[in-house]
Amino acid sequence: MYEPLTEQKAIALAVRLGLFDADALLSCQEIGDGNLNLVFRIVNERTNDSIIIKQALPYAKVVGESWPLTLKRATIESQALRTFASYASQYVPKVYYSDETLAITVMEDLSHLQIARRGLIEGKTFPKLSEHIGEFVAKTAFYTSDFGMNQQQKKKLAQQFTNPELCKITEDLVFTDPFFDHDTNNFEAELRADVKQLWQDDELKREVAKLKRLFLTKADVLLHGDLHTGSIFASDDDTKVIDPEFAFYGPIGFDLGNFFANLLLNALARHESECEPLFTHIEKTWDVFVRTFTTCWQESNEPYARVSFVLDDIMNDALVEAIGFAGCEVIRRTIGLAHVADLDELPLEQRLEAKRHALRLGRELIVHRHNLRVDDFKRLVEQTAH
Ligand code: ADP
Ligand code: MG
Ligand code: MG
Ligand code: MG
Repeated sequence: MYEPLTEQKAIALAVRLGLFDADALLSCQEIGDGNLNLVFRIVNERTNDSIIIKQALPYAKVVGESWPLTLKRATIESQALRTFASYASQYVPKVYYSDETLAITVMEDLSHLQIARRGLIEGKTFPKLSEHIGEFVAKTAFYTSDFGMNQQQKKKLAQQFTNPELCKITEDLVFTDPFFDHDTNNFEAELRADVKQLWQDDELKREVAKLKRLFLTKADVLLHGDLHTGSIFASDDDTKVIDPEFAFYGPIGFDLGNFFANLLLNALARHESECEPLFTHIEKTWDVFVRTFTTCWQESNEPYARVSFVLDDIMNDALVEAIGFAGCEVIRRTIGLAHVADLDELPLEQRLEAKRHALRLGRELIVHRHNLRVDDFKRLVEQTAH
């Protein structure tokens, strides 16, 4: 039977599962800083061995018990981590155990790394971040697509990853609510005039509707579904992607777009002179993504993989999507329900300026996505500064 774990119960569970030596001296702390789940870190004080137990709660912690949320997302998360591991094992934590009833995933402790968002806010660069994320997204996308997997098998896998409850959160909080006067929105009173202008912008809303439709209908590849910089652990050498509870079959550009957007949001919080590494990360992520996907492509058995320009079309679509989805993510993180620390930790005046900038940038990305290249981000950030 399901029950939320406490620190003591988490230790008892670890012992029962035989995850530590019999003579282990165990301590446990709940370290979750996310919005939806409990995260327990259990350490053997004798050897310093450690594990993580992540448990889904039957409601969203950020809102409270009034917002029920399916426990199935824990199974989605552990299955997604295992699926990703079969194509890009170096970029995800090892999964040691999972249990559907308890809604838990027991996994590798990554505490020696830092959440990328926090490090980027501190001004760190994480030189390998883009290479690693580009390769992770390319391999997991290709090998779960109709070009990298038997097409019947892909349909079965997609079935396993229908994730209607979590997708609904994205449909509402990313693609709908921020563009209408809905009460989930959350922004500074000073921004009201800017936000009202956005709500009246039918050209923008028409384009967001197209992007929402892609999200709802385009089952290209298995996505992480929530690939912001808070879902990435990093150091100078290593990168690990966590928290794929939003995983589902969706448009190939969605994860890239989320990642780009979160780099852009970090850039908007920085002094202009310190943004270069972020633009470099965006360009390099795209480069590595295209290169890796192309290498995988050469091995595809799908007859259309031998027809010229098919790959170019897929890569072009991926970029246009990524830019559009990035715009949606930039806007929703600015005025929607869930914000990012990069902007929210700024002092008020600077924050308001950065958020107005974000709204202008998000709009440009969405509306002009068909005519932008990956090296246009820097120019666009500069052009929308005032
Ligand atoms: P949520 O779905 O609630 O956002 P996350 O999976 O993002 O949960 O985890 C929340 C926090 O718990 C992370 O930001 C990180 O601090 C910690 N955490 C999660 N997984 C691990 C792990 N494998 N190793 C170390 N810390 C982790
Ligand atoms: Mg933390
Ligand atoms: Mg998280
Ligand atoms: Mg999560």
